[in-house]
Amino acid sequence: MTANNMEELVALCKRRGFIFQTNEIYGGLQGLYDYGPLGVELKNNLKTSWWSSMVYERDDVEGLDSSILTHPDVLKYSGHEETFTDPLVDCKECKSRSRADHIEDGKCPSCGSKDLTEPRPFNLMFKTNIGPIDDGSSFAYLRPETAQQIFTNLKNVIDTTSRTLPFGVAQIGKAFRNEITPRNFIFRVREFEQMELEFFVEPGTDEEWHDQWVKDRVNWWEKQGIKKKNLELVDIPKEDLSHYSKKTVDIMYRFPHGLEELEGVANRTDFDIGSHTKNQKDFDIKAKVKQNSDSVIKLAVQDKINNTWTIPYVIEPSAGVDRGFLAVLNEAYKTEDLGDGKQRTVLSLKPHLSPIKASVIPLKRNNKDLVSTALKIKSSLQALGMGRILFDNSGNIGKSYRRHDEVGTPICLTVDFETLEDQKVTARDRDTMAQERVSILDLPKYIKKILL
Ligand code: ATP
Repeated sequence: MTANNMEELVALCKRRGFIFQTNEIYGGLQGLYDYGPLGVELKNNLKTSWWSSMVYERDDVEGLDSSILTHPDVLKYSGHEETFTDPLVDCKECKSRSRADHIEDGKCPSCGSKDLTEPRPFNLMFKTNIGPIDDGSSFAYLRPETAQQIFTNLKNVIDTTSRTLPFGVAQIGKAFRNEITPRNFIFRVREFEQMELEFFVEPGTDEEWHDQWVKDRVNWWEKQGIKKKNLELVDIPKEDLSHYSKKTVDIMYRFPHGLEELEGVANRTDFDIGSHTKNQKDFDIKAKVKQNSDSVIKLAVQDKINNTWTIPYVIEPSAGVDRGFLAVLNEAYKTEDLGDGKQRTVLSLKPHLSPIKASVIPLKRNNKDLVSTALKIKSSLQALGMGRILFDNSGNIGKSYRRHDEVGTPICLTVDFETLEDQKVTARDRDTMAQERVSILDLPKYIKKILL
Protein backbone atom coordinates (compact mmCIF):
# COMPACT_ATOMS: atom_id res chain seq x y z
CA MET A 1 0.00 0.00 0.00
CA THR A 2 1.05 3.57 -0.61
CA ALA A 3 -0.54 6.92 0.23
CA ASN A 4 -3.86 7.62 -1.51
CA ASN A 5 -2.75 11.08 -2.55
CA MET A 6 -0.11 13.75 -2.03
CA GLU A 7 -2.25 15.56 0.57
CA GLU A 8 -1.92 12.61 2.98
CA LEU A 9 1.88 12.81 2.76
CA VAL A 10 1.95 16.60 3.05
CA ALA A 11 -0.26 16.42 6.15
CA LEU A 12 1.89 13.73 7.77
CA CYS A 13 5.08 15.67 7.02
CA LYS A 14 3.73 18.80 8.64
CA ARG A 15 2.02 17.06 11.58
CA ARG A 16 5.06 15.04 12.58
CA GLY A 17 7.86 17.42 11.68
CA PHE A 18 9.30 15.95 8.51
CA ILE A 19 8.91 18.96 6.21
CA PHE A 20 7.87 22.61 6.63
CA GLN A 21 7.34 25.34 4.09
CA THR A 22 10.34 27.71 4.03
CA ASN A 23 9.69 31.04 5.79
CA GLU A 24 6.09 30.10 6.40
CA ILE A 25 5.69 32.85 9.03
CA TYR A 26 6.21 35.38 6.23
CA GLY A 27 3.88 33.63 3.82
CA GLY A 28 6.48 31.20 2.48
CA LEU A 29 8.60 31.17 -0.65
CA GLN A 30 7.31 29.17 -3.58
CA GLY A 31 9.22 26.02 -4.41
CA LEU A 32 11.25 25.93 -1.20
CA TYR A 33 10.92 23.58 1.77
CA ASP A 34 12.76 22.93 5.04
CA TYR A 35 13.34 19.53 6.59
CA GLY A 36 12.25 19.32 10.23
CA PRO A 37 13.57 17.20 13.13
CA LEU A 38 12.45 13.90 11.61
CA GLY A 39 12.92 14.94 7.99
CA VAL A 40 16.58 15.73 8.44
CA GLU A 41 17.15 12.26 9.91
CA LEU A 42 15.37 10.42 7.09
CA LYS A 43 17.11 12.56 4.48
CA ASN A 44 20.54 11.96 6.05
CA ASN A 45 19.85 8.23 6.23
CA LEU A 46 18.95 8.12 2.53
CA LYS A 47 22.13 10.01 1.64
CA THR A 48 24.25 7.75 3.88
CA SER A 49 22.80 4.68 2.21
CA TRP A 50 23.64 6.10 -1.25
CA TRP A 51 27.16 7.06 -0.18
CA SER A 52 27.74 3.61 1.30
CA SER A 53 26.69 1.83 -1.85
CA MET A 54 28.48 4.22 -4.21
CA VAL A 55 31.74 4.81 -2.36
CA TYR A 56 32.33 2.38 0.53
CA GLU A 57 30.97 -0.82 -1.00
CA ARG A 58 32.91 -0.30 -4.24
CA ASP A 59 36.60 0.02 -4.93
CA ASP A 60 36.45 2.29 -7.94
CA VAL A 61 34.80 5.47 -6.63
CA GLU A 62 36.11 8.51 -4.71
CA GLY A 63 34.08 11.22 -2.98
CA LEU A 64 33.95 15.00 -3.39
CA ASP A 65 32.23 17.95 -1.74
CA SER A 66 32.56 21.06 -3.88
CA SER A 67 31.37 24.67 -3.96
CA ILE A 68 27.86 25.67 -4.89
CA LEU A 69 28.93 29.01 -6.36
CA THR A 70 30.35 28.32 -9.79
CA HIS A 71 32.62 30.27 -12.16
CA PRO A 72 30.48 31.54 -15.06
CA ASP A 73 32.92 30.09 -17.62
CA VAL A 74 32.28 26.58 -16.32
CA LEU A 75 28.60 26.90 -17.16
CA LYS A 76 29.39 28.69 -20.38
CA TYR A 77 31.58 25.89 -21.72
CA SER A 78 29.33 23.17 -20.32
CA GLY A 79 26.60 24.55 -22.56
CA HIS A 80 24.29 25.55 -19.70
CA GLU A 81 24.30 29.27 -20.45
CA GLU A 82 22.98 28.58 -23.90
CA THR A 83 20.79 25.54 -23.49
CA PHE A 84 19.72 25.04 -19.88
CA THR A 85 16.29 26.44 -20.56
CA ASP A 86 12.64 25.50 -20.31
CA PRO A 87 10.02 26.84 -22.73
CA LEU A 88 8.10 29.65 -21.03
CA VAL A 89 4.58 30.75 -21.95
CA ASP A 90 2.79 33.88 -20.65
CA CYS A 91 -0.96 34.07 -20.20
CA LYS A 92 -2.08 37.43 -21.62
CA GLU A 93 -5.26 37.24 -19.55
CA CYS A 94 -4.08 36.59 -15.96
CA LYS A 95 -0.34 37.30 -16.54
CA SER A 96 0.71 33.95 -15.02
CA ARG A 97 3.66 32.05 -16.46
CA SER A 98 3.80 28.34 -17.21
CA ARG A 99 6.09 25.79 -18.74
CA ALA A 100 4.89 25.15 -22.29
CA ASP A 101 5.12 21.37 -21.80
CA HIS A 102 2.88 21.61 -18.70
CA ILE A 103 0.03 23.20 -20.66
CA GLU A 104 -2.91 20.97 -21.54
CA ASP A 105 -5.37 21.65 -24.40
CA GLY A 106 -3.72 25.02 -25.07
CA LYS A 107 -5.25 26.46 -21.88
CA CYS A 108 -3.62 28.52 -19.11
CA PRO A 109 -3.37 26.26 -16.00
CA SER A 110 -4.32 29.23 -13.76
CA CYS A 111 -7.35 30.81 -15.47
CA GLY A 112 -8.16 28.57 -18.45
CA SER A 113 -7.66 31.32 -21.04
CA LYS A 114 -6.39 30.33 -24.47
CA ASP A 115 -4.77 33.72 -25.01
CA LEU A 116 -1.15 32.60 -24.55
CA THR A 117 2.16 33.85 -25.95
CA GLU A 118 4.40 31.67 -28.09
CA PRO A 119 6.89 29.66 -25.97
CA ARG A 120 10.29 31.28 -25.47
CA PRO A 121 13.39 29.88 -23.77
CA PHE A 122 13.83 30.73 -20.09
CA ASN A 123 17.21 30.02 -18.47
CA LEU A 124 16.83 28.15 -15.18
CA MET A 125 20.12 29.18 -13.57
CA PHE A 126 20.28 31.49 -10.54
CA LYS A 127 22.96 34.17 -10.63
CA THR A 128 24.47 36.02 -7.70
CA ASN A 129 26.92 38.85 -7.24
CA ILE A 130 30.44 38.03 -6.06
CA GLY A 131 32.49 40.50 -4.00
CA PRO A 132 31.64 43.98 -2.72
CA ILE A 133 30.78 45.68 -6.02
CA ASP A 134 27.28 45.02 -7.26
CA ASP A 135 27.43 46.29 -10.86
CA GLY A 136 26.97 42.94 -12.58
CA SER A 137 30.65 42.75 -13.59
CA SER A 138 31.47 39.95 -11.20
CA PHE A 139 28.96 37.21 -10.74
CA ALA A 140 28.72 33.49 -10.14
CA TYR A 141 26.03 30.94 -10.80
CA LEU A 142 24.45 28.76 -8.17
CA ARG A 143 25.18 25.37 -9.68
CA PRO A 144 22.22 23.81 -11.51
CA GLU A 145 23.77 20.32 -11.08
CA THR A 146 26.64 19.10 -8.91
CA ALA A 147 28.28 17.39 -11.90
CA GLN A 148 30.28 20.31 -13.32
CA GLN A 149 32.34 20.67 -10.14
CA ILE A 150 33.26 17.00 -10.45
CA PHE A 151 34.45 17.55 -14.02
CA THR A 152 36.50 20.62 -13.16
CA ASN A 153 38.14 18.69 -10.30
CA LEU A 154 38.97 15.65 -12.44
CA LYS A 155 42.70 16.39 -12.61
CA ASN A 156 42.89 17.07 -8.86
CA VAL A 157 41.25 13.75 -8.09
CA ILE A 158 43.44 11.79 -10.51
CA ASP A 159 46.63 13.45 -9.28
CA THR A 160 45.86 12.76 -5.64
CA THR A 161 44.50 9.22 -5.97
CA SER A 162 46.37 7.80 -8.99
CA ARG A 163 43.12 6.47 -10.38
CA THR A 164 42.98 4.88 -13.83
CA LEU A 165 39.92 4.20 -15.95
CA PRO A 166 37.31 3.11 -15.13
CA PHE A 167 36.63 5.03 -11.94
CA GLY A 168 34.03 7.39 -10.55
CA VAL A 169 33.60 10.47 -8.40
CA ALA A 170 30.54 10.72 -6.17
CA GLN A 171 29.03 13.84 -4.71
CA ILE A 172 25.93 14.79 -2.74
CA GLY A 173 24.91 18.41 -2.57
CA LYS A 174 22.58 21.25 -3.30
CA ALA A 175 21.57 22.29 -6.79
CA PHE A 176 19.40 25.25 -7.78
CA ARG A 177 17.00 25.73 -10.65
CA ASN A 178 14.65 28.63 -11.11
CA GLU A 179 11.79 26.32 -12.09
CA ILE A 180 8.99 28.17 -13.86
CA THR A 181 6.29 26.24 -12.04
CA PRO A 182 7.52 24.46 -8.91
CA ARG A 183 4.85 21.99 -7.82
CA ASN A 184 3.87 18.68 -6.31
CA PHE A 185 5.35 19.36 -2.87
CA ILE A 186 9.07 18.48 -2.80
CA PHE A 187 8.97 16.86 -6.25
CA ARG A 188 9.77 20.01 -8.22
CA VAL A 189 11.47 22.68 -6.15
CA ARG A 190 13.92 25.52 -6.76
CA GLU A 191 16.54 24.38 -4.25
CA PHE A 192 17.15 20.66 -3.96
CA GLU A 193 19.83 18.06 -3.38
CA GLN A 194 21.33 15.68 -5.87
CA MET A 195 23.26 12.46 -5.38
CA GLU A 196 25.45 12.26 -8.45
CA LEU A 197 28.09 9.88 -9.65
CA GLU A 198 30.28 10.71 -12.63
CA PHE A 199 31.77 7.42 -13.75
CA PHE A 200 34.68 7.83 -16.17
CA VAL A 201 35.23 5.04 -18.70
CA GLU A 202 37.22 4.26 -21.84
CA PRO A 203 35.34 5.40 -24.94
CA GLY A 204 33.86 2.29 -26.53
CA THR A 205 33.03 0.68 -23.17
CA ASP A 206 30.46 3.39 -22.36
CA GLU A 207 27.33 1.60 -23.57
CA GLU A 208 28.05 -1.49 -21.52
CA TRP A 209 28.72 0.61 -18.40
CA HIS A 210 25.56 2.57 -19.01
CA ASP A 211 23.45 -0.62 -19.02
CA GLN A 212 25.21 -1.80 -15.87
CA TRP A 213 24.56 1.44 -14.00
CA VAL A 214 20.86 1.42 -14.88
CA LYS A 215 20.61 -2.07 -13.35
CA ASP A 216 22.63 -1.16 -10.25
CA ARG A 217 20.57 1.92 -9.59
CA VAL A 218 17.24 0.11 -9.87
CA ASN A 219 18.57 -2.49 -7.41
CA TRP A 220 19.55 0.23 -4.97
CA TRP A 221 16.10 1.85 -5.08
CA GLU A 222 14.56 -1.55 -4.37
CA LYS A 223 16.80 -1.84 -1.30
CA GLN A 224 15.36 1.47 -0.12
CA GLY A 225 11.93 -0.17 -0.07
CA ILE A 226 10.65 0.85 -3.50
CA LYS A 227 8.67 -1.94 -5.12
CA LYS A 228 9.71 -2.90 -8.62
CA LYS A 229 6.14 -2.56 -9.86
CA ASN A 230 6.24 1.15 -8.99
CA LEU A 231 9.38 1.78 -11.05
CA GLU A 232 9.58 2.09 -14.82
CA LEU A 233 12.52 2.65 -17.14
CA VAL A 234 12.08 5.15 -19.93
CA ASP A 235 14.53 5.48 -22.79
CA ILE A 236 14.50 9.20 -23.57
CA PRO A 237 13.81 9.82 -27.27
CA LYS A 238 16.71 11.36 -29.22
CA GLU A 239 14.94 14.68 -29.76
CA ASP A 240 14.38 15.14 -26.00
CA LEU A 241 17.94 14.35 -24.85
CA SER A 242 19.95 17.00 -22.97
CA HIS A 243 22.60 18.75 -25.05
CA TYR A 244 25.38 16.56 -23.57
CA SER A 245 23.72 13.18 -23.77
CA LYS A 246 24.07 10.33 -26.23
CA LYS A 247 21.57 8.18 -24.33
CA THR A 248 19.57 8.70 -21.14
CA VAL A 249 17.43 6.21 -19.28
CA ASP A 250 15.13 7.77 -16.71
CA ILE A 251 14.17 5.71 -13.69
CA MET A 252 10.56 6.71 -13.20
CA TYR A 253 8.55 6.22 -10.02
CA ARG A 254 4.80 6.15 -9.55
CA PHE A 255 4.55 9.28 -7.34
CA PRO A 256 1.14 10.17 -5.85
CA HIS A 257 0.71 12.71 -8.70
CA GLY A 258 1.78 10.31 -11.45
CA LEU A 259 4.68 8.49 -13.07
CA GLU A 260 7.67 10.86 -13.10
CA GLU A 261 11.47 10.93 -13.07
CA LEU A 262 13.20 9.85 -9.87
CA GLU A 263 16.68 9.50 -11.32
CA GLY A 264 18.32 9.92 -14.71
CA VAL A 265 21.17 7.74 -15.95
CA ALA A 266 22.91 9.59 -18.79
CA ASN A 267 25.74 8.73 -21.13
CA ARG A 268 27.36 12.20 -21.24
CA THR A 269 30.07 10.98 -23.65
CA ASP A 270 33.21 13.19 -23.58
CA PHE A 271 31.11 16.32 -24.01
CA ASP A 272 31.89 18.02 -20.68
CA ILE A 273 35.48 16.95 -20.18
CA GLY A 274 36.20 17.83 -23.80
CA SER A 275 34.56 21.23 -23.46
CA HIS A 276 36.58 22.15 -20.39
CA THR A 277 39.88 21.13 -21.95
CA LYS A 278 42.26 23.52 -23.69
CA ASN A 279 45.59 22.78 -25.45
CA GLN A 280 43.84 20.51 -27.88
CA LYS A 281 47.00 19.98 -29.91
CA ASP A 282 48.18 17.54 -27.25
CA PHE A 283 45.10 15.45 -27.56
CA ASP A 284 43.07 13.48 -29.99
CA ILE A 285 40.09 15.70 -29.39
CA LYS A 286 36.81 15.47 -31.20
CA ALA A 287 35.61 18.38 -33.32
CA LYS A 288 32.99 19.31 -30.77
CA VAL A 289 35.57 20.50 -28.28
CA LYS A 290 35.31 24.24 -28.18
CA GLN A 291 38.51 25.78 -29.58
CA ASN A 292 38.33 28.89 -27.47
CA SER A 293 37.97 27.33 -24.03
CA ASP A 294 39.49 29.41 -21.26
CA SER A 295 40.27 26.43 -19.05
CA VAL A 296 44.00 26.12 -18.45
CA ILE A 297 44.13 22.50 -17.37
CA LYS A 298 44.11 19.32 -19.46
CA LEU A 299 41.23 17.26 -18.22
CA ALA A 300 42.26 13.91 -19.56
CA VAL A 301 43.53 10.60 -18.25
CA GLN A 302 47.09 9.58 -19.06
CA ASP A 303 48.21 6.03 -19.75
CA LYS A 304 51.70 6.38 -18.28
CA ILE A 305 53.09 3.27 -20.00
CA ASN A 306 52.14 4.20 -23.56
CA ASN A 307 52.12 7.92 -22.82
CA THR A 308 48.75 8.33 -24.48
CA TRP A 309 45.93 10.55 -23.30
CA THR A 310 42.25 9.71 -23.24
CA ILE A 311 39.34 12.03 -22.80
CA PRO A 312 37.09 9.65 -20.92
CA TYR A 313 33.43 9.09 -21.53
CA VAL A 314 31.17 9.74 -18.55
CA ILE A 315 28.23 7.70 -17.31
CA GLU A 316 26.14 9.70 -14.86
CA PRO A 317 23.53 8.26 -12.50
CA SER A 318 21.93 11.42 -11.06
CA ALA A 319 19.29 11.03 -8.37
CA GLY A 320 17.30 13.67 -6.52
CA VAL A 321 17.43 13.38 -2.73
CA ASP A 322 14.10 15.16 -2.34
CA ARG A 323 12.35 13.01 -4.94
CA GLY A 324 13.90 9.95 -3.28
CA PHE A 325 12.58 11.13 0.08
CA LEU A 326 9.09 11.53 -1.36
CA ALA A 327 9.25 8.11 -3.02
CA VAL A 328 10.35 6.17 0.07
CA LEU A 329 7.81 8.03 2.20
CA ASN A 330 4.99 7.24 -0.23
CA GLU A 331 6.08 3.64 -0.50
CA ALA A 332 6.21 3.15 3.28
CA TYR A 333 2.88 4.86 4.04
CA LYS A 334 -0.11 2.74 4.92
CA THR A 335 -3.23 2.80 7.04
CA GLU A 336 -4.49 -0.30 8.83
CA ASP A 337 -7.84 -1.15 10.39
CA LEU A 338 -7.47 -2.26 13.99
CA GLY A 339 -11.15 -3.25 14.49
CA ASP A 340 -13.77 -1.34 16.54
CA GLY A 341 -13.60 1.45 13.96
CA LYS A 342 -10.00 2.19 14.95
CA GLN A 343 -7.22 2.80 12.48
CA ARG A 344 -3.50 3.32 12.60
CA THR A 345 -1.11 4.97 10.14
CA VAL A 346 2.19 3.17 9.77
CA LEU A 347 5.36 4.17 7.97
CA SER A 348 6.91 0.82 7.18
CA LEU A 349 10.27 2.33 6.33
CA LYS A 350 13.29 0.11 5.90
CA PRO A 351 14.92 0.36 9.37
CA HIS A 352 18.12 1.89 7.95
CA LEU A 353 16.01 4.85 6.77
CA SER A 354 13.88 5.31 9.91
CA PRO A 355 14.46 8.73 11.52
CA ILE A 356 14.28 7.20 15.00
CA LYS A 357 15.77 3.73 15.37
CA ALA A 358 14.27 2.91 18.76
CA SER A 359 12.30 4.74 21.39
CA VAL A 360 12.79 4.09 25.09
CA ILE A 361 9.61 4.88 27.00
CA PRO A 362 9.17 4.90 30.79
CA LEU A 363 5.68 3.63 31.63
CA LYS A 364 5.12 6.50 34.05
CA ARG A 365 6.37 9.90 33.19
CA ASN A 366 7.59 11.17 36.52
CA ASN A 367 8.71 8.00 38.19
CA LYS A 368 12.35 8.55 39.10
CA ASP A 369 13.40 4.87 38.92
CA LEU A 370 11.72 4.24 35.56
CA VAL A 371 13.09 7.44 34.09
CA SER A 372 16.67 6.80 35.21
CA THR A 373 16.59 3.20 33.92
CA ALA A 374 15.17 4.39 30.60
CA LEU A 375 17.85 7.08 30.31
CA LYS A 376 20.60 4.53 30.97
CA ILE A 377 19.19 2.24 28.26
CA LYS A 378 18.92 5.14 25.85
CA SER A 379 22.53 6.22 26.26
CA SER A 380 23.92 2.69 26.05
CA LEU A 381 22.01 2.06 22.78
CA GLN A 382 22.93 5.49 21.45
CA ALA A 383 26.60 4.62 21.95
CA LEU A 384 26.25 1.82 19.37
CA GLY A 385 26.29 4.54 16.70
CA MET A 386 23.33 3.26 14.73
CA GLY A 387 21.37 6.48 14.52
CA ARG A 388 18.97 8.30 16.78
CA ILE A 389 17.63 6.53 19.88
CA LEU A 390 14.89 8.56 21.52
CA PHE A 391 14.11 8.92 25.21
CA ASP A 392 10.35 9.39 25.03
CA ASN A 393 8.99 10.69 28.31
CA SER A 394 5.43 11.34 27.23
CA GLY A 395 3.90 8.99 29.81
CA ASN A 396 1.18 7.63 27.54
CA ILE A 397 2.24 4.34 26.04
CA GLY A 398 -0.72 3.96 23.66
CA LYS A 399 -0.16 7.42 22.20
CA SER A 400 3.59 6.88 21.97
CA TYR A 401 3.09 3.65 20.01
CA ARG A 402 0.75 5.39 17.54
CA ARG A 403 3.14 8.27 17.10
CA HIS A 404 6.11 6.01 16.53
CA ASP A 405 4.14 3.87 14.06
CA GLU A 406 3.37 7.01 12.14
CA VAL A 407 6.99 8.16 11.92
CA GLY A 408 8.38 4.71 11.20
CA THR A 409 10.25 3.86 14.43
CA PRO A 410 10.93 0.12 14.06
CA ILE A 411 10.96 -0.71 17.76
CA CYS A 412 9.64 0.73 21.03
CA LEU A 413 11.13 -0.33 24.36
CA THR A 414 8.92 0.18 27.38
CA VAL A 415 10.41 0.36 30.86
CA ASP A 416 7.81 -0.68 33.45
CA PHE A 417 7.78 -1.59 37.15
CA GLU A 418 8.66 -5.21 36.34
CA THR A 419 11.80 -3.95 34.61
CA LEU A 420 13.08 -2.79 37.97
CA GLU A 421 12.71 -6.39 39.24
CA ASP A 422 13.70 -8.55 36.24
CA GLN A 423 15.90 -6.17 34.19
CA LYS A 424 13.78 -6.78 31.10
CA VAL A 425 11.87 -4.34 28.88
CA THR A 426 8.86 -4.80 26.62
CA ALA A 427 9.94 -4.58 23.00
CA ARG A 428 7.13 -3.76 20.56
CA ASP A 429 7.50 -4.27 16.82
CA ARG A 430 6.15 -1.50 14.55
CA ASP A 431 4.91 -3.73 11.74
CA THR A 432 3.45 -6.73 13.62
CA MET A 433 2.68 -4.88 16.88
CA ALA A 434 3.94 -8.06 18.61
CA GLN A 435 5.45 -7.57 22.04
CA GLU A 436 8.11 -9.56 23.84
CA ARG A 437 10.24 -9.20 26.95
CA VAL A 438 13.91 -8.68 26.26
CA SER A 439 16.67 -8.50 28.81
CA ILE A 440 18.43 -5.13 29.01
CA LEU A 441 21.77 -6.88 28.57
CA ASP A 442 20.61 -8.43 25.29
CA LEU A 443 19.27 -5.15 23.86
CA PRO A 444 22.35 -4.16 21.78
CA LYS A 445 22.28 -7.52 19.98
CA TYR A 446 18.50 -7.38 19.63
CA ILE A 447 18.51 -3.87 18.17
CA LYS A 448 21.42 -4.57 15.81
CA LYS A 449 19.58 -7.57 14.39
CA ILE A 450 16.57 -5.40 13.56
CA LEU A 451 18.51 -2.46 12.16
CA LEU A 452 21.22 -4.16 10.14
P1 ATP B 1 12.72 17.12 -14.87
O1 ATP B 1 12.60 16.61 -16.29
O2 ATP B 1 11.75 16.47 -13.92
O3 ATP B 1 12.75 18.62 -14.77
P2 ATP B 1 15.51 16.77 -15.21
O4 ATP B 1 15.55 15.73 -16.28
O5 ATP B 1 15.73 18.19 -15.59
O6 ATP B 1 14.15 16.64 -14.35
P3 ATP B 1 18.09 16.07 -14.27
O7 ATP B 1 18.74 17.25 -14.86
O8 ATP B 1 18.27 14.73 -14.91
O9 ATP B 1 16.53 16.37 -14.09
O10 ATP B 1 18.52 16.00 -12.74
C1 ATP B 1 18.81 14.80 -12.05
C2 ATP B 1 17.86 14.57 -10.90
O11 ATP B 1 17.77 15.72 -10.08
C3 ATP B 1 16.43 14.28 -11.34
O12 ATP B 1 16.26 12.92 -11.66
C4 ATP B 1 15.65 14.66 -10.11
O13 ATP B 1 15.61 13.59 -9.18
C5 ATP B 1 16.46 15.80 -9.51
N1 ATP B 1 15.83 17.09 -9.85
C6 ATP B 1 15.97 17.79 -10.99
N2 ATP B 1 15.25 18.93 -10.94
C7 ATP B 1 14.64 18.94 -9.74
C8 ATP B 1 13.76 19.85 -9.08
N3 ATP B 1 13.39 21.00 -9.65
N4 ATP B 1 13.31 19.55 -7.85
C9 ATP B 1 13.70 18.40 -7.24
N5 ATP B 1 14.53 17.51 -7.81
C10 ATP B 1 15.00 17.76 -9.03
